[in-house]
Amino acid sequence: MESLKLKCIECGGTMDVDPSKKVLACPYCGSKQLMVDSDEVKIAEINANRDTKIQEIKTKNEVMIKFLDVIGKMDPYVILIISLFLMGIVVGILSEIFK
Ligand SMILES: [Zn+2]
Repeated sequence: MESLKLKCIECGGTMDVDPSKKVLACPYCGSKQLMVDSDEVKIAEINANRDTKIQEIKTKNEVMIKFLDVIGKMDPYVILIISLFLMGIVVGILSEIFK
């Protein structure tokens, strides 16, 4: 799992967040920052949003995989005819542009 990153208040450097620790130390300027409850809430929110995004991407991928699965089960001859039909449309458009 990708670690969460926060910006240092002092220098703007990126700090890796260890959720198990209450105090963060900036690797650039060494300033220490206390993880308050609001930060934990924020982190939980960020993680929740990220999980939602991941779920959305997974759903989209599943739709794509099902689509490819349907095509894969189709008769190769039908796929060939559809491809030729689509190519015919493209060639038609191109010949309109370059006539
Ligand atoms: Zn810093």
